[in-house]
Amino acid sequence: MATATLAIVVPCYNEQDMLPQSLPVLLATLDELIEKGKISNTSKLYLVDDGSRDNTWEQIDQASLASSGKVVGIKLSRNRGHQNALIAGLETTVEDMVVSIDADLQDDPSNIERMVDEFHKGSDVVYGVRAARKTDTFFKRFTAEGYYYLMRRMGVDLVFNHADFRLMSRRALNALLEYRESQLFLRGIVREVGFTSSIIEYDRQSRLAGESKYPLRKMLSLAWNGISSFSTAPLRAITLLGITASALSMLLIAWVLITRFFTDNAIPGWASILLPLLFIGSVQLLSLGVIGEYLAKLYQEVKARPRYHISEIRGETEPLAKSGQ
Ligand code: UDP
Ligand code: MG
Repeated sequence: MATATLAIVVPCYNEQDMLPQSLPVLLATLDELIEKGKISNTSKLYLVDDGSRDNTWEQIDQASLASSGKVVGIKLSRNRGHQNALIAGLETTVEDMVVSIDADLQDDPSNIERMVDEFHKGSDVVYGVRAARKTDTFFKRFTAEGYYYLMRRMGVDLVFNHADFRLMSRRALNALLEYRESQLFLRGIVREVGFTSSIIEYDRQSRLAGESKYPLRKMLSLAWNGISSFSTAPLRAITLLGITASALSMLLIAWVLITRFFTDNAIPGWASILLPLLFIGSVQLLSLGVIGEYLAKLYQEVKARPRYHISEIRGETEPLAKSGQ
């Protein structure tokens, strides 16, 4: 039991202000778990530089040199986004269990011990769930909650308040990596994969240094990516919208015809022309937009482009065979 190896995978994008603080903490976490006999002493830290434009890679490089094999550095050819950086790290690991965590210490690494305990109790997936979102802005909390609600209504099974802080066993991870979508929404796919899972609750801290790399634009894009990868409910919704709009137009047409042929007050009403015109027009545009979004997604997936390329690697790993195929 004590011989199970652990890999901690950390995506890093412009984290030069954060790494000097988070690296020692993460390494200390590993050492402590090794000392307690909960993981093997060949466990490792994988740092993925997601095409940072600051000194992140230099720091990772040095950490790897100084760590006597404990730190593996992976440099991506350019910025690919959090999810892809994470996948790059996960695909490089060979360990028995893998924990993914952000570089900013918002998810306290001391919780990793509880995750490892759950693993030893037989869980293949351990979700880190934020107990309270005290440190998030009201706006972020509100939109996040609305989003989980919406996803659930559309039949997508997400773990509430779980982001990407989780532990996976080797077999759960291998299953996950069989999903070849070029736009992988990890927290949705992990649910899809199944296996025995458990949840640990923790308090999320606020970022100590650097700034959030998830501005509103990226948040919206991740949110839409999650919806369109897992649910065709929006397509169904526009069909319903179309049916409703057609029914209303039928009524309107009937009313116009009756007014025209059976009454004397067939006024040259601009309203009755303009209203349906606007309504139908907007419904059509909206519907086309949603269809277009799915079409775009199909287009991207059909191309099946690689999710990342590794340009450099530091430390002891399996041979550099992968490039995100
Ligand atoms: N990140 C990344 N690539 C990106 C954006 C972010 O690898 O394009 C990393 C970032 O370095 C951090 C994690 O993803 O370790 C989460 O980012 P952040 O803390 O900015 O997100 P938030 O906690 O604000 O949602
Ligand atoms: Mg963060």
